[in-house]
Amino acid sequence: MRNWENNVRRVCPYVPGEQPKDKDIIKLNTNENPYPPAKGVMRVLKDYNADNLRLYPDPSSEELIKALADRYGVKSSQIFVGVGSDDVISMAFMTFFNSDKSVIFPDITYSFYDVWAEVYNIPYKTKPLDENFRINENDYICENGGIIFPNPNAPTGVYESLDKIEKIIKANPDVIVMIDEAYIDFGGESCIPLLKKYDNLLVIQTFSKSRSMAGARIGFAVGNERLIKYLNDVKFSVNSYTMNSLTQKIGVEAVKDESYFKDTTNRIIRTRERAKKKLLELGFIFPDSKSNFIFVSHPNKSASEIFCELKNRKIFVRYWDKPRINNYLRITIGTDKEMDTLFEALEDILSD
Ligand SMILES: *Cc1c(COP(=O)(O)O)cnc(C)c1O
Repeated sequence: MRNWENNVRRVCPYVPGEQPKDKDIIKLNTNENPYPPAKGVMRVLKDYNADNLRLYPDPSSEELIKALADRYGVKSSQIFVGVGSDDVISMAFMTFFNSDKSVIFPDITYSFYDVWAEVYNIPYKTKPLDENFRINENDYICENGGIIFPNPNAPTGVYESLDKIEKIIKANPDVIVMIDEAYIDFGGESCIPLLKKYDNLLVIQTFSKSRSMAGARIGFAVGNERLIKYLNDVKFSVNSYTMNSLTQKIGVEAVKDESYFKDTTNRIIRTRERAKKKLLELGFIFPDSKSNFIFVSHPNKSASEIFCELKNRKIFVRYWDKPRINNYLRITIGTDKEMDTLFEALEDILSD
């Protein structure tokens, strides 16, 4: 080992789902949207004058923030945007989780939370989900340094009611409670309206799933304006120009096209409900999902085997070799056609 290595910050990084180069596959492994972004996005990209790239982008992303504020019925001063919600959540951890007490989140959840906690030296504890992958709200009524969980949860797809979430927010007025709503647009109810009652709530959403723009990297947080000010203070202490000007423009177009957004999210919901029926027929078990994926297990064949056999047939889904979930696969909802190919493959795999 070289001496300088004594002074290296060592971390165990998050491992994103595979992005295979091969275009000839059915990609149901990273919860991307199978439909293209809104028409306005295409128009901006087609007409974009590259000379704009000489200039720095608007560091405050004013137009995008205004469009989001209008869409969600809040003030511009209540919105923070970042380069994907991963950037937003990472900034929020840095800004709000500075207590000596542990931040808490579920044992089965988005596997980036513990990575951020480690990289920022934030103490944390996990609370086990029950045997049906549900959150027990009483686990979150205790001394803590902050709370975060997704609703619907990942990778389970389980949605918790606003009542349960409100209980948790209400019982924790001295810390920030972050609700990661990456999948809220697929049938859940957002807790954004609770912002009127609670100043310790931060709601985080993304354009990556319901707005078909994972490649553009846009995420945002909605909260009390004091929270947003603190977030901006940290963001502007790290990098002022995070979101590029082209992305800001296409983000506005995506937010403005409400009818396309409704149409595509509804299509995915319909396909998901059809997939639930089909998967039940094939003998799979799964918690009910309100997201754009289903978390399935099969009594007759191990998840790791099904994962490999699907991969041999060029169908990619997600598998984690982790306690409690190592016999589950997370399957993203694709187009109806992609799902039909998946069902055929599963039928074939299970009949061996
Ligand atoms: C996908 C996802 C995110 C991050 O999405 P971005 O692409 O960074 O916006 C955050 N939280 C959860 C639970 C997710 O599944």
